[in-house]
Amino acid sequence: MKTKVVKFGGSSLASAEQFQKVAAIIKADTARRYVVPSAPGKRFDDDTKVTDMLYQCYRLASKGLPFEELFEQIKERYLEIIRDLKLDLDLEDEFRHIRTSFEHKAGRDYAASRGEYLNGKILAHYLGFDFIDAAEIIFFDEQGIFASEITNEVVKNCLNNHHNAVIPGFYGSMPNDTIKTFSRGGSDITGSIVARATSADLYENWTDVSGFLVADPRIVDNPDVINVVTYRELRELSYMGATVLHEDAIFPVRKAGITINIRNTNHPDDPGTFIVARPDHEKHRKIITGIAGKKGFSVISIEKDRMNQEIGFGRRMLEVLEKHNICFEHLPSGIDTMSVVLSTSDLKDQENQIVSELYRALNPDSIDVERGLALIAVVGRRMIATPGVAARLMAAAAREKVNIRMIDQGSSELNIIIGVNEEDFEKVVRAIYEEFCVHPEA
Ligand code: ASP
Repeated sequence: MKTKVVKFGGSSLASAEQFQKVAAIIKADTARRYVVPSAPGKRFDDDTKVTDMLYQCYRLASKGLPFEELFEQIKERYLEIIRDLKLDLDLEDEFRHIRTSFEHKAGRDYAASRGEYLNGKILAHYLGFDFIDAAEIIFFDEQGIFASEITNEVVKNCLNNHHNAVIPGFYGSMPNDTIKTFSRGGSDITGSIVARATSADLYENWTDVSGFLVADPRIVDNPDVINVVTYRELRELSYMGATVLHEDAIFPVRKAGITINIRNTNHPDDPGTFIVARPDHEKHRKIITGIAGKKGFSVISIEKDRMNQEIGFGRRMLEVLEKHNICFEHLPSGIDTMSVVLSTSDLKDQENQIVSELYRALNPDSIDVERGLALIAVVGRRMIATPGVAARLMAAAAREKVNIRMIDQGSSELNIIIGVNEEDFEKVVRAIYEEFCVHPEA
């Protein structure tokens, strides 16, 4: 029989009304056997996510400040759902236990994880599915790194004995039995872990948008939904700032070649976006799949005559960055110049120190640091071996009279990254969208 793992985000489980939609979706397909919920999210724009309330409540508790009032508000979020769904479920013992654990400073991660734990309890009861505490099947090592292989074994064996189950997202346990969470948005990762372990036919990730958009809707009006994106393309897009799915959620399913389908709980008939290893047949003819970008980069440019003949120049330069714990993004270079693009926030207040160390290590003619760079990634599997993509990209920027400060195309040809001044960022993203998506065949 088919197996689908379904993960529901916070806004999909923020109220009883949303729970009803979720139950209807699950009941509509018997393959939807394993359910991973987030904690209740926002019910309206100014609302607060339960996870944020828990962090705040624990902050008070850990400082020995009164936290009762906030704790009651959190409790009320759940009680309201239970009441409105008319469930015969008493979570008083759970709340009592959580409150005591807060008093005994059980840890910030423990506190945050209770959001999904309690939501999982309610959802399991509502659906009539088994509840499995993620702390018993998802593990981290002593360093707090997710222990993928042992987790995979344990989840697989455990779920073999449950036809239907709810597994709360976002957390697992450490070797000393304390709770550890993934980073924010981490329920996506739990869904992916469960999908891999159960060799699911599909991992459906239900949220409040109808899929992944070609560009950021805050920049481009009404951008198209991406129908099909490969894992590799998605990785490029998420890395460059596109959000919807947690960046790390791709890894477990990618290993197993399982497709992810991003769906909208509020519009369940929309097909959403399919994230695949390799597309079966290409229906759409658009050259690019998506555009993403970020501001906040800096360039360190180093000049030295005959740099090209100096063995070990690049290594010495990168060693300086390594010493300061800095990752570099790009390394465009010429014969006598080398530039390194890095995140401005990593530079922090170390700029002068780094520059003087680079002078010492490289003895260059000059070093120049410029801040205020934005990077834009244009990603698309169909760009590979397609002539003219870079030309159209340049032309789009030129039409906006924007100077391109950097260009980098990886050997995979899957993406082209350009660097522009931060103030030109939005303009260029819109121009690229226009060029490739509004007039795709131009
Ligand atoms: N509830 C957690 C968060 O708000 C995890 C999640 O929703 O995926 O980050």
